[in-house]
Amino acid sequence: MSEDFDIRASQSGKDRDSDFEKALRPSEFDSFSGQDKIIENLRVFVAAARMRGESLDHVLLHGPPGLGKTTLSQIVANELGVGIKITSGPVLDKPGDLAGILTSLEENDVLFIDEIHRLSPVVEEYLYSAMEDFRIDIMIDKGPGARSVQLSLSPFTLIGATTRSGLLTSPLRARFGINCHLEYYDHEVLERIVLRSARLLGVKCTAEAAHEIALRSRGTPRIANALLRRVRDFAQVKGSGVVEPDIARYALEALNIDRYGLDEIDNKILTT
Ligand code: ADP
Repeated sequence: MSEDFDIRASQSGKDRDSDFEKALRPSEFDSFSGQDKIIENLRVFVAAARMRGESLDHVLLHGPPGLGKTTLSQIVANELGVGIKITSGPVLDKPGDLAGILTSLEENDVLFIDEIHRLSPVVEEYLYSAMEDFRIDIMIDKGPGARSVQLSLSPFTLIGATTRSGLLTSPLRARFGINCHLEYYDHEVLERIVLRSARLLGVKCTAEAAHEIALRSRGTPRIANALLRRVRDFAQVKGSGVVEPDIARYALEALNIDRYGLDEIDNKILTT
C-alpha cells in the first residue's frame, strides 16, 4: 500500500480551513451520513472487489461542491484497504504528469482526480488506455529519434469528481463503470453531521442549535461545518462555550445569514 499524498495540498499550502475539513472527514462508510442509495451500492461493489482481490471499477462522482466527493473517495480507498493519490484536472496539464502518477500507483490503488472535466484533451486521451487496458504509451525524445514506449500499469481505480458532469466528453464518461450523483442533504442528516463535527471538535452543541445551523447550510455539509466553526467562536466569546440555539441565532444573524442560508450578497443579487 502506498502512502497517501495530496498534490492539491502541497500546491496550495495547507491552510486552517483544509486542516479543519480533514479533521472532520469521515473515514468509513458507517460514519458517512446521508446519500444512502450511493453508500448502499458502493458497499456492495467494494465488498465484491475485495472478495475477488481485484481493483474496483472506475467511479464517477458528480454533484455540487461540498457534498462529500473527496470524502467518499477516501472512504472507498480506506474500505478497499488500498492507498489513494489525490490530484485535480487543472494540475495535470502534461501527459508526463499523469504518467508519473499512474506509474507510482500500487496494485488496486485509488487515483482521485477532482474537477476531472478540466483535464486537457491530450491528458484525457492518455487516460483512456490507462483506464481501459492499464497501459500508457509515452513518447521518448523529439524529432527523428522520437519513439513510443508502452508502459504497463498496475490495475487501479480511477475516481473522478466533477461539479459539471455536462462538460465531460462522452468517451471519458463511458469509461466509468460506476456513476454516482450526489444530492443535497436534508436537514435531519445535516443536523447529525453538525452534532458529529461538534463532538469531534470537543464543543458541546444542543440538538436544537444543530437544527438551526442545518437549516441555514443550503443542504451542504461543508457549509454546515463552516457555520458550526463560526458559531463556536461566538459561543466561546459571547456565550457560555456551549453551542445553544440563542447563541447560534445570534451568530448567524451577526454573519448576515438568513433562514434560507443566504448571506448579504446573495440577498442583494436577489433583490436587484
Ligand atoms: P467535495 O469534494 O464534494 O467538494 P468534500 O468531500 O471535500 O466535498 O466535503 C466537504 C466537507 O464536508 C468535509 O470536511 C467533510 O468532512 C464534510 N462532509 C461531506 N459529506 C459528509 C457526510 N456525508 N458526512 C459527514 N461529513 C461530510
